[in-house]
Amino acid sequence: MEIPQLPLMLDLWQSTINWQPTQSQQQKFQELYETILIGNQQQNLTRITAPEDFWEKHLWDSLSGIAPLLETDSPSHHIPKNAKIIDVGTGPGFPGMPIAISKPEWKINLLDSTRKKIVFLNNAISLLQLQNATTILGRAEAVGQESYHREKYDLALIRAVGQPSVCAEYILPLVKVGGLGILYRGHWAEEDTVNLESALSKLGGKLKSIQSGQTPVSRGVRNCVYILKTTPTQSQYPRAVGTPHQQPL
Ligand code: SAH
Repeated sequence: MEIPQLPLMLDLWQSTINWQPTQSQQQKFQELYETILIGNQQQNLTRITAPEDFWEKHLWDSLSGIAPLLETDSPSHHIPKNAKIIDVGTGPGFPGMPIAISKPEWKINLLDSTRKKIVFLNNAISLLQLQNATTILGRAEAVGQESYHREKYDLALIRAVGQPSVCAEYILPLVKVGGLGILYRGHWAEEDTVNLESALSKLGGKLKSIQSGQTPVSRGVRNCVYILKTTPTQSQYPRAVGTPHQQPL
């Protein structure tokens, strides 16, 4: 199978998120791309396969959500140097894998409920020799009730898993008080804010900010929603497997 080369885009990285991959990180992005294209022949991992699309909609998009945290002197939020991160419903590893490649000092857990995706990720992690990434096979509703994971993360991320209040119920129980949750969204409407704030009041969170922007090549709409965990989540959340999705808060 002929694998194309990903574009480098150093100027765009710099101008949009004030960061650039090193040569070895670019090499790992390429290896991730190859691993996903090969894995795509076995299972449906992603429909985004052209090199420019993969760069923009997977690599750039994954890192844009944490861009405010990459600024070392950022006043926006303090994430410890060796932060513990969880990516909920990571699928083929987004946004978690590009983040693991870019932030070797962060420890990333990739959670998904589909065994085949986890098998793929375990293989990818070992091929790319990522020392800071591990996987968890399970449902967010169940993992959020395990003491080993509950309120243990400095940062929880979620992209393309469900509506905002469902995502909030999946991630907030996993975040430490004082930690941060990030929802990666496309379009965002005023009523999304109203619904999310009502869910957050039950989950111990507070809406911190919403960063609106466009992807740098195809100008797609992006909204990143930053949530602060302010008080411990009551033990009834997350509710039983399936309930958050069937009866959103
Ligand atoms: N975040 C990735 C994948 C999105 S597809 C991306 O943006 O490309 C949604 C993924 O979430 C699927 O892989 C599915 O298995 C997983 N998922 C859905 N509900 C889940 C739950 N309750 N707990 C854990 N994973 C879940």
